[in-house]
Amino acid sequence: MELTNEVTNLPFVGPAYERRLEKLGILTIEDLLLHIPNRYEDFRNTQKIRDVRVGETVTIKGTVASMKNIYTKSRKVMQEAVVNDGTGSLSVVWFNQPYLVKSIYEEDILALSGKVGFWGRRVALTSPMYEKLGEGRLVHTGRLVPIYPQTAGISSKWLRRQIKNANEKVKIPDFLPKELLKKENFISYKSAIKKAHFPKTMKEASEARRRLAFNELLDFQIKSVQRKKEWQENTPSATLEVKTSKINSFIKGLPFKLTGAQKKVVGEILSDFSKSYPMNRLLEGDVGSGKTVVGAIGAFSCFLNERKTLFMVPTQILAEQHFKTLKELFKGKKVGLALLTSGVKKGNLKSADIIIGTHSLIHSKMDLKDVGLVVIDEQQRFGVEQRRHLVKKTKGVRVAPHVLTMTATPIPRTIALTAYGDLALSTLDELPKGRKRIVTWLVPNRKREAGYKWMEKDIKKRKVQAFVVCPLIEESDKESMEQVKAAKGVFEELKTLLPSLRIGLLHGKVKAQEKTKIINSFESKKLDILVSTPIVEVGVDIANAAFMVIEGAERFGLAQLHQLRGRVGRGRKKSYCLLFTKSKGEKVEARLSAMQRGLSGFELSELDLKLRGPGEFFGTAQSGFPELKIASWADFGLIKKARKIAENMFDNPENFKKLLRKYEV
Ligand code: ADP
Ligand code: MG
Repeated sequence: MELTNEVTNLPFVGPAYERRLEKLGILTIEDLLLHIPNRYEDFRNTQKIRDVRVGETVTIKGTVASMKNIYTKSRKVMQEAVVNDGTGSLSVVWFNQPYLVKSIYEEDILALSGKVGFWGRRVALTSPMYEKLGEGRLVHTGRLVPIYPQTAGISSKWLRRQIKNANEKVKIPDFLPKELLKKENFISYKSAIKKAHFPKTMKEASEARRRLAFNELLDFQIKSVQRKKEWQENTPSATLEVKTSKINSFIKGLPFKLTGAQKKVVGEILSDFSKSYPMNRLLEGDVGSGKTVVGAIGAFSCFLNERKTLFMVPTQILAEQHFKTLKELFKGKKVGLALLTSGVKKGNLKSADIIIGTHSLIHSKMDLKDVGLVVIDEQQRFGVEQRRHLVKKTKGVRVAPHVLTMTATPIPRTIALTAYGDLALSTLDELPKGRKRIVTWLVPNRKREAGYKWMEKDIKKRKVQAFVVCPLIEESDKESMEQVKAAKGVFEELKTLLPSLRIGLLHGKVKAQEKTKIINSFESKKLDILVSTPIVEVGVDIANAAFMVIEGAERFGLAQLHQLRGRVGRGRKKSYCLLFTKSKGEKVEARLSAMQRGLSGFELSELDLKLRGPGEFFGTAQSGFPELKIASWADFGLIKKARKIAENMFDNPENFKKLLRKYEV
């Protein structure tokens, strides 16, 4: 059997299990073998019954003297067996598994692993794993027993059996050169799979994990290098000539002087435009670092070459905002602007030089022929999928526009180079001068009402406005009904608590036209407070907003809080960020108080990674990082190694024949 064979080739994997496995992303035998345990139960301590102690986790081996169902007073059903091993007898109990009496019989010889406790007054082994002896090596007992992530319909016991079975039958050749394994101290692929599932010691388990994690990271690296090469084989839809004097005079006409970082990045983009392959660049810049204008200068350069620019943002609100901003920036220029979202159309699409819309623009039937540049703003996931839509084939030639992706998600460089290694990387590491620090307070629940009252006074005194963002309830890209409910709740509460203020409510279930209306009335100061779900997180720019209130702040990552806070303090007014939390934990407080220290998005993100650990940090949908199954994004050492080897592979193909074949390079 080969690793690439489908799992259905295994005995006992019928249609029902096939479907369940598919849900876990397991299609092939290799997928199954790479479904590795998240922990191990240590059942290596084998004891004679005479020697077992209460509280110990042990394995015993013995003969079943009796097995029966017992019905308790509370109408529950339990199973009790008595097992004898020649040194003594021990009661064994399970709860609510009546079918066990159909698989365990008197005279069976069993191995049982579990914790010794009391059942009533009697010493008993409770809810142990068990298996019959005499079927070869023990699988579920008597060793380090793998426990797999829980999924409906697939038990660890079933997985263990199938994985053991598959592992015995399948050929597992290594695709890495032997010398490399030796030099980097990696065990073979075959041995890694065996040891990941059935280690003799924890050291073996960790050796296995290290090798498999490396495989996963290497896979990321190779694919990203491949994507880069592939992208560079495209022909640019336009070689954009850099018309320096016109661009310079546009920059001179801006209402502000570009920062050094903005100048540097503009230079990088313009030099990409004249290359023989299309640009594919990721621009990272903290909130407020001025990414929009950088995109606009790119669009202007495109316009000077008589090509269109698509400017895409995640939400309709943001699209309208950008439409206005760009109109301002191009005032007095002949640049035609149009807005296109599922809800709203403005301007003349046909004659427009810049079309602003949501990310779904990519999927619309728009003719990309004249598009020279695509700007994807506030992108959290740098979808390979999306870029694929931009490539058009004409007469066998693949033509693609220049692509500029912009994000405020602070991605550590090492990680960016792995996960997005196909993109060229630019950073705006400098904020425009004169930005005021936003005063940030952590407000415990008992001071919450007083906080709102104080804000009410200040709003009236200074004629400023406030955002109130309601807690994140689920870690997901989409807004849930729960989230909407939470926002509605706060909205109602504030109407009573702050009767003198005009309060609006915004969430994803509001219709497009209505959304625009709400934002417009907030912008034109017809509302004092805008209560919303976290959807306002990205991009909205309202100069008069001087308060950012965040309910349930502990639910957000620091980088996210930083982004939210970046919504205020954009004008000249002194601004505040109030972080409300009901949580009293020290950890939460330590984490949130970092928000008061004036750190950059980058620093906060790294701190969050340290405080919450990579699991929680990278595991969340909001973090925007691709998910890893075995490796961790925090494993910089292994990431660097993988990158080196991927590059080495493309530079010295003769040393990596098997690996090249695996990736069909
Ligand atoms: P972000 O990087 O978060 O998208 P924006 O592009 O929205 O930031 O810019 C934030 C604010 O800073 C805008 O009001 C913009 O006009 C202003 N801005 C951008 N660049 C500069 C600059 N060099 N000097 C002063 N203000 C700037
Ligand atoms: Mg922006």
